[in-house]
Amino acid sequence: MAIQLKTDLPSFFEIGEYNTVHLLKLLHMHHLEFKQVLLLGDHKTFLIGGGPISKNLEDGHIKVSRHVVTNSDEPNVRHVEDIIEQEKPDLVLGFGGGKVLDVAKLAAGKKNTTFISIPTTLSNDGISSPVAVIKDKKNIPVSHITKAPYGIIVDISIVKKAPEKHIKAGIGDMISNLSAVFDARLAHKEGRETITSMALSVSEAGPLSLLDFKKPSIHNNDFLLCLAQGLTKSGIAMCITGSSRPASGSEHKISHAIDHLHSPRDTLHGEQTGIAAIFTMALQENSYLDKVIEFYKEITFPHTLEHLSLTIEQFIQVVHAAGNIRPERYTILEHMEITDKEIREIIKKTGL
Ligand SMILES: [Zn+2]
Repeated sequence: MAIQLKTDLPSFFEIGEYNTVHLLKLLHMHHLEFKQVLLLGDHKTFLIGGGPISKNLEDGHIKVSRHVVTNSDEPNVRHVEDIIEQEKPDLVLGFGGGKVLDVAKLAAGKKNTTFISIPTTLSNDGISSPVAVIKDKKNIPVSHITKAPYGIIVDISIVKKAPEKHIKAGIGDMISNLSAVFDARLAHKEGRETITSMALSVSEAGPLSLLDFKKPSIHNNDFLLCLAQGLTKSGIAMCITGSSRPASGSEHKISHAIDHLHSPRDTLHGEQTGIAAIFTMALQENSYLDKVIEFYKEITFPHTLEHLSLTIEQFIQVVHAAGNIRPERYTILEHMEITDKEIREIIKKTGL
């Protein structure tokens, strides 16, 4: 039996330098016909490139209304839904980082309006996924499954100006797929979950091409292209399963446990999952572990507990707490009875 898609896949992925300057042409090339656009961003992203985007669309006689997203929370989603209801745009453009894209994606999905993702950073796979992470009333991030973006447009000249920390977080989130894919295969082998193997192959394609990249550097356009393609594939893998499963396993559970036990904090999602992946891949005896450690050194990815502002004792507590997060999702953490002594040994062995 062929795969029944749980969510529609994005229709296009465009990457290039200064392509947002010719946005209208690009959108028409992908058969999008529209008269009115809702452009969502934040104060910073509107300063970076909101002007040229609006001008390009308005020069083509498209009506553009710009609104600022202040946070990825429920009031912002409701506010954007109200705007969509009042203005009835044919197209919603999300121009920003994770917060803007998540709010735009969920509100557009709820209102059944075509959504295009134009990330200003490559910090996680939300640029293309059907998942929107929105904080609830208690300020806890909750993942919502919605429609994936209709298209993803990456302007290299914009994303390369993002802080290094953001690009590295994207790399960490990408590499963490190797741990997530291992866990999903383990769950399948143990008869705990039925997994679409195609989704797992698509999910691991991104990190494997990063590991194979000759002389990786976050300042190299081709490397950023490889990262953007990988993050997009990760989103597509999630569309196939209709869940975050192909890109979220034990390493994401550890990251969520860090959020629960040690918030507020400065580290980004991808930094946490990327560092946690070193630990979970060691537990898994994952064959890519040595390559990942070597790769992190090459791109100076900060892979230590110190970077997470966690002591060894706190990390041990986090690992035990991670087992209680999404217990239905079977990973190496549920598969093994792990002792404090073993956790300490892995930290030492991997240089965490
Ligand atoms: Zn992630």
